[in-house]
Amino acid sequence: MIAEILCIGTELLMGQVLNTNAQFLSRRLSALGVSQYHQTVVGDNPHRLEEAYRLALSRADVVITSGGLGPTVDDITKRIAAGIAGKELVLFPEAEEMVRTRFQQLHRELTPNNLSQAMFTPDSTLLLNPNGTAPGAIVPMGEGKVVIHLPGPPAELQPMFISQVEPWLSRQSGKVLVSRYISIFGMGEAEVDQRLSDLEQVFNPSLSPYCSLAEVQLRATACADTPEEAENLLAPLVEEVRRRLGDVVYAVSDDDGMTLAAAAVGALKEKGWTVATAESLTGGMISAAMVDISGASSVVRGGFVTYQTDTKTLLVDVPAKTIEDCNVVSAEVALAMAKGARSKLDTDIAVSATGLAGPDGGTPERPVGTVYVGIATRDNAFALHLPLSGNRARIRTVAMKHALNALRLTALGKEVPKVAGG
Ligand code: AMP
Ligand code: MG
Repeated sequence: MIAEILCIGTELLMGQVLNTNAQFLSRRLSALGVSQYHQTVVGDNPHRLEEAYRLALSRADVVITSGGLGPTVDDITKRIAAGIAGKELVLFPEAEEMVRTRFQQLHRELTPNNLSQAMFTPDSTLLLNPNGTAPGAIVPMGEGKVVIHLPGPPAELQPMFISQVEPWLSRQSGKVLVSRYISIFGMGEAEVDQRLSDLEQVFNPSLSPYCSLAEVQLRATACADTPEEAENLLAPLVEEVRRRLGDVVYAVSDDDGMTLAAAAVGALKEKGWTVATAESLTGGMISAAMVDISGASSVVRGGFVTYQTDTKTLLVDVPAKTIEDCNVVSAEVALAMAKGARSKLDTDIAVSATGLAGPDGGTPERPVGTVYVGIATRDNAFALHLPLSGNRARIRTVAMKHALNALRLTALGKEVPKVAGG
């Protein structure tokens, strides 16, 4: 099956709105194993839209549109497709009901043009929109081709696609697709690629990497006749990836929502450990990331934001002399912060972070991006030196990720690399 994404809206052409729908849809489609060879953005112009439709329909089986389902004159997505199919738009009573109900919920007056949102060609299959007024539709275009209309707002398009279009697409192919997401922290994309390049050549199960901030994620997807068969294809691949990459794999999950914080909290919970934090440049981010995870209360005891230098002494007993002798951004201070936070709150482990997020304040000896993370347990303590790069936001986020990863590895009883960039 070949699909093509057609995003409609002049605001996209003018750069007023970023085309996140194309990214979302293409990611989901490739996860489903659906091929895509082209993508188009076209403004709200009938002639150019018709041209774009005809071209897309000439080279794809399924054309997925986003935008232009609203009630105004520039919302022409359905009308132009209907014209190409040689059909009229008719009022769908169930869709009318949906639109009316939605307007009632929003306490908005329904005007006659709003009912255009309930009109589709007669053989269309409706897609419910619990998050907005415009339903979507799967529209047969003849010769086995189909157009799928989705609303423009991402908050409406995304759930509609996942819950209604994906099941339809996999029914069409008569196959079951099962994916696993393998999350990696502490190894660059190039090295991951190098270690797995032969596995990435295989078509089924397929393995594809993509990067996010200082992390690599791999998606392993198997396509088979039954879920069991797909699982049987996936299991050895996931095992082999784990074997080749080792401890940098922090999660293997069914969706791509797994985070380092969840992995850290999970590892601490498993170990039965409580944790305290002492944060300078991250200003509470490490603690907040862990608290984001439901069930963190059995693990996260509390923490200290020790941002100005003297608060490191006031709150977590870092000796002023250590700061004076070693610099506030140093392994010694990170270590003392972690030890201090741990003993103040009597936890099993504590993590700290001190560093230069910039953009100002760098010196040749300590350039912007110099970060130290400290770990203290009841019987051990060590510091990590992290020469990080990027802007302030990036440096702080990557520092937080290193801290969470250090907690995870320590709780698992694994070695933490003492120097790591990123
Ligand atoms: P429309 O359905 O065309 O009225 O679009 C409604 C709103 O959805 C637009 O004003 C944008 O804010 C948003 N939107 C439309 N298309 C996209 C897209 N491709 N990516 C992200 N947002 C979009
Ligand atoms: Mg529009």
